[in-house]
Amino acid sequence: MVGSADSAPLSVACPYCQRQASLLRWQEAGYPYPADWGPAWKCASCDAYIRCYYGTVTPLGMLADADTRHWRHLAHRALDPLWQRGQESRSSVYRWLAEELGVSESEAHIGRMDPDGCRKVIAAVAGRRRRG
Ligand SMILES: [Zn+2]
Repeated sequence: MVGSADSAPLSVACPYCQRQASLLRWQEAGYPYPADWGPAWKCASCDAYIRCYYGTVTPLGMLADADTRHWRHLAHRALDPLWQRGQESRSSVYRWLAEELGVSESEAHIGRMDPDGCRKVIAAVAGRRRRG
């Protein structure tokens, strides 16, 4: 996906219906978040949306519907403590995750995953805990 730090026009397709998502800003009709979390891409027909990298209009990943948002939340809740405790760096945790899932490091991002991918993250973290 192409994007830059300025407001370069981007077009973002909804992964569910393939229609063009629209770029919404805080206080515009249909803005999906309860506060100003920056610009968001949203597909009105699927109620799928995603935020952008800070200060840009580049989406953090693919638009997510309610189910996907739920699973991404759970995957973050499983994975984030691994690096938030400070014993391991975030990048080393993501390298481990990529290896565990058999994907490249650029694919090992929860923001790019569907519910199935998120469930694999949760299973991988659980397996790691069991091994100690
Ligand atoms: Zn859609």
